[in-house]
Amino acid sequence: MTDSTLQDVRQILQQGDRQAALSLVDQILSAAPSAEGWTLAAEIVEAEADKIKCLDQALALDPNYEPARKMYSALGKLPPPRRAQPAPAAASRPDESQADEPRVISRVGEQTVYEEGIYEMLWDCKYCGTTKLLGKTHKFCPVCGAQQDASWRYFPSDEEKIAVKDHVYVGADKVCPACNSLVAGNAEFCGRCGAPQTAAAEVKRQASREAAGGQKFEREDLVARQMAETYGPPKTKVKPSRPKWVPFVIGAVVLGVIAFALFAIFAKREQTGYVTAFNWERTINIERFSAVAGSGLCSVMPADAYSVSRSYEQVGSRQVPDGEDCSMRQVDLGDGTFRQERVCVPRYRSEPVYDYVCSYMVNRWGYSRSANASGAREQTPAWPDPRLNTSTAGGCTSTFPSLGCERESGRDERYMITLKTGEDDTYQCDIPFEVWNDLPVEASFKFKVSIVGNRPDCGSLERQN
Ligand SMILES: [Zn+2]
Ligand SMILES: [Zn+2]
Repeated sequence: MTDSTLQDVRQILQQGDRQAALSLVDQILSAAPSAEGWTLAAEIVEAEADKIKCLDQALALDPNYEPARKMYSALGKLPPPRRAQPAPAAASRPDESQADEPRVISRVGEQTVYEEGIYEMLWDCKYCGTTKLLGKTHKFCPVCGAQQDASWRYFPSDEEKIAVKDHVYVGADKVCPACNSLVAGNAEFCGRCGAPQTAAAEVKRQASREAAGGQKFEREDLVARQMAETYGPPKTKVKPSRPKWVPFVIGAVVLGVIAFALFAIFAKREQTGYVTAFNWERTINIERFSAVAGSGLCSVMPADAYSVSRSYEQVGSRQVPDGEDCSMRQVDLGDGTFRQERVCVPRYRSEPVYDYVCSYMVNRWGYSRSANASGAREQTPAWPDPRLNTSTAGGCTSTFPSLGCERESGRDERYMITLKTGEDDTYQCDIPFEVWNDLPVEASFKFKVSIVGNRPDCGSLERQN
């Protein structure tokens, strides 16, 4: 229905009745707004600013609507950016061998651990020297019949990995306390000697290992590991360390600097001085109604703004998910198999955020100047004449001021005494009017002065006579 009605608008427009076309498209848009409808409206209205408004509406509904974008460019303006196509699914998975969604083992914070698969550990027969036997399948050496020693298990390289189909995990293998046989994790009695397995210890698992995304796992070096287990880890050169007293000296110096800074800020000495002068100062602050430039998001522009210019620009950025960073981990399950895990944290990229930004003028009251009066105590303190401008061409009522009008915006008054010390130093302090007004000349005060900066602490004034 909407289509046929927009078609009606086009017909009316071809007949030359612009007004009728405009009122019909207005009806349609208020009932069912569409990018196509707003673009048609942009064709009908005449003023360029109105055309842009219609096109903005169209592109707000569909940023990729081509006719509106073309018309925008034809007006010599840059259309707002297209909406980004949804990003293709994360293409950074280091291992693409698995088509179906892998099982999630854990989610902690932002980190997700996926199960990639269960594989056979390898082991070497220490009696006949056969290598790369399968941890799950070969509980006994197929060459000499010796039983598998779980401590001779090791991780294979990526090329040697053999998956365990339909793996049922019953816990790590145990070692029979009576005959040292390898026993399944859920067995209650030893298969060889029949001893109960309640007190049996689990075999020792090999330490997990990790590889960064895209890197391969090499075969674990069983001999090197056994050497390390027997003789300790290979020795690395020890860096000559700093003498132990260095941190203490640095700490002492830092503490000293802090203590000195505190001393400098707060240390004061006592002074005594006589009043040698009384002064007063009175100020009236004056505001003026003037045109002020402003800018900001058009959506929050003040209602009385004028001389507005709009632009579509970057106003910030936001973090959007952009795939994952993953590493691989292999975990010995203790039953002759290991689990390969993918450990992933989400990656983010910064994406610009665009919006309409307006520069404009508004008329506002703002500080403009102050009127001042000052004198010694002999002159009675009085307020200055602010000489406000209250007669502009547009009038200066408080509700409807016009540019150039002035008004008061607060008064300040200060009453000061000048103190002179025996060392001929002079200091000035503000004191309350009542005290200032009644104070005799030559009154004497004790007060504190900061050692750094030599500023009087006027709160510490203490009358001496
Ligand atoms: Zn063997
Ligand atoms: Zn046994």
